[in-house]
Amino acid sequence: MPPVRSRPPALGPQPNAFRVIRYSVQPKNPAAHLFEVSVSIDTPDPAGQRFMLPVWIPGSYMVREFARHIVTLSAKSKSRRVACEKIDKHTWQCAPCKGPLTLTYEVYAWDLSVRAAHLDESHGFFNGTSLFLLPEGMQEAPCELHLQRPAGAGYASWRVATAMKPAERRGVSGKNASKRPPIKDFGVFVADNYDELIDHPVEMGTFTHASFEACGVPHHVVITGRHRADMNRLTADLRRVCEAQIRLFEPESGKAPMREYWFLIMAVGDGFGGLEHRASTALLVSRDDLPLVGLAEGGRASAGYRKFLSLASHEYFHTWNVKRIKPAAFVPYDLTRENYTRQLWFFEGITDYYDDLMLSRAGLISALEYLEIEADSIGRLMAQAGRTKQSVAESSFDAWIKYYRQDENAVNSIVSYYQKGGLVGLALDLTIRRATRNTKSLDDVMRTLWRDYGLTGHGVPEGEIEKVASHIAGTDLTRFFADYVYGTQDPDLANLFADMGITLSWRHAGNGNGAGDDSKRSESSVPGLGAKIVGDTNGDARLAQVFDGGSAMLAGLSAGDTIVAIDGLRVNVGNLEKRIRSYAVGSVVPIIAFRRDELLQRNLKLQAQTARTCVLTLSVVSATVTANRLKWLGQ
Ligand code: ZN
Repeated sequence: MPPVRSRPPALGPQPNAFRVIRYSVQPKNPAAHLFEVSVSIDTPDPAGQRFMLPVWIPGSYMVREFARHIVTLSAKSKSRRVACEKIDKHTWQCAPCKGPLTLTYEVYAWDLSVRAAHLDESHGFFNGTSLFLLPEGMQEAPCELHLQRPAGAGYASWRVATAMKPAERRGVSGKNASKRPPIKDFGVFVADNYDELIDHPVEMGTFTHASFEACGVPHHVVITGRHRADMNRLTADLRRVCEAQIRLFEPESGKAPMREYWFLIMAVGDGFGGLEHRASTALLVSRDDLPLVGLAEGGRASAGYRKFLSLASHEYFHTWNVKRIKPAAFVPYDLTRENYTRQLWFFEGITDYYDDLMLSRAGLISALEYLEIEADSIGRLMAQAGRTKQSVAESSFDAWIKYYRQDENAVNSIVSYYQKGGLVGLALDLTIRRATRNTKSLDDVMRTLWRDYGLTGHGVPEGEIEKVASHIAGTDLTRFFADYVYGTQDPDLANLFADMGITLSWRHAGNGNGAGDDSKRSESSVPGLGAKIVGDTNGDARLAQVFDGGSAMLAGLSAGDTIVAIDGLRVNVGNLEKRIRSYAVGSVVPIIAFRRDELLQRNLKLQAQTARTCVLTLSVVSATVTANRLKWLGQ
């Protein structure tokens, strides 16, 4: 990351580049959610040392201002106090001193997400981006972390889970790696530089731990929070996913790019999220999505467990795609501001494509289950008008202010670079397979990028993915990218699926609210409100989103309005849709709603229901097509 503004960037070797930065972290007051952190350097800048905290965490593209959680801060040189003041939202300036210089500060950690830090009497978790101030000019200096156990008998059984290297084992690698004790203890950890330090989140507490080897590399599964997960099933299934991915990138050597890997899982009542790191991932999941001990579920994965495996597979795929094969804009990361790239559709979308595909290839879901997941994604994408207004390249670029900051109009104005990016990945894969008569695929694109960028550490320039894909396909794919990545066209998946003996069809969506038997009505004869409805605390029907061109929008209704009566009869969240569907398309019905506390009377002219369900079915096909399908989906 470049120095904070107003100083020219340091050219050539920096005076402190090889001096160690020493950090210490003490969960000082778990009940008050406070970590005490210190950072020490021996030779501060004689003109006055600056320190900065990142404003975002790689993998989550939004400026989050972690510095707002720093509560108190003081600086000392030997036993003398050194003046230190803030010069902008995330930078501190110390007065000149000889050194050593130590800053001590408290960080409030009460964000139960994968992106920040969380501490209470049951556990501690942190990302370095929330805790570690970087002395300006020392981003390449080696780091030492003194991780201290919280004081008190109640914390005697706490252990540590992280991919960070313990100090005494620095340099141990290769075949000796598996001889390490599986779980780490409090003590000293090391990182080669700041970028590595902040890429190893740390969990501490009394978690459940299990381990397995994938292609000879130790993998650890750690679960914090109350749960009854079947650790044997979990490790067996994750092992299949991990090995399939390692062999995708390195089919010959089966060599993983990390010496160990950690799945750091926080199980809660209701939650979903993941963040990728170079040798670990932090996952926030619903405990009900984990497989239960004694419930083999006939060998198949439940929908919840499929969701969990898909998340784990997604984050693991990032070990290559985005942590090592990186957009040029991220080499290096600038942690002081937004880092713009038009390539997130690839780094997130392609990862989204492979997460479920790898479950299919690993045999954890059937081909039919895989197609159900894709059909659901196609259906959800096609229901959103935003896809006609923003390309996935634009969505990538504006992730910082749009995808990560969605409001009630997002459905009409933006496209998800995950969702459409994943379907562009699917279309690209099938296009390459078609162009090469099934001798090449997107896997070859991934391996080429891995060889040329992942293994060399060079960033992938804008436009390069297109060139590599065209080269692998043996045909110019400029048009494909112009239409689906830089343009807002929908990939022609129905056509591409046909190559694999898969039929794409549509049926109009049931609404699950007891709308009666609509199956005999044609799609165009079922009316819809054109809005997403949620229930208020008293059961009133509130419009959460109003879709472009739908009945509600044409009647002048907005997100936030509450509909209380239709055609003179009171309605609620339970019967509104059913009531709407009891009329014919084209009917005009009077409607009464509230906007805030003001009464609105409108006439609703009912448009045809547009929500449709995508269905993918497998046909009986020739032996050649079946073989091509097997090559693609595995099994
Ligand atoms: Zn991702």
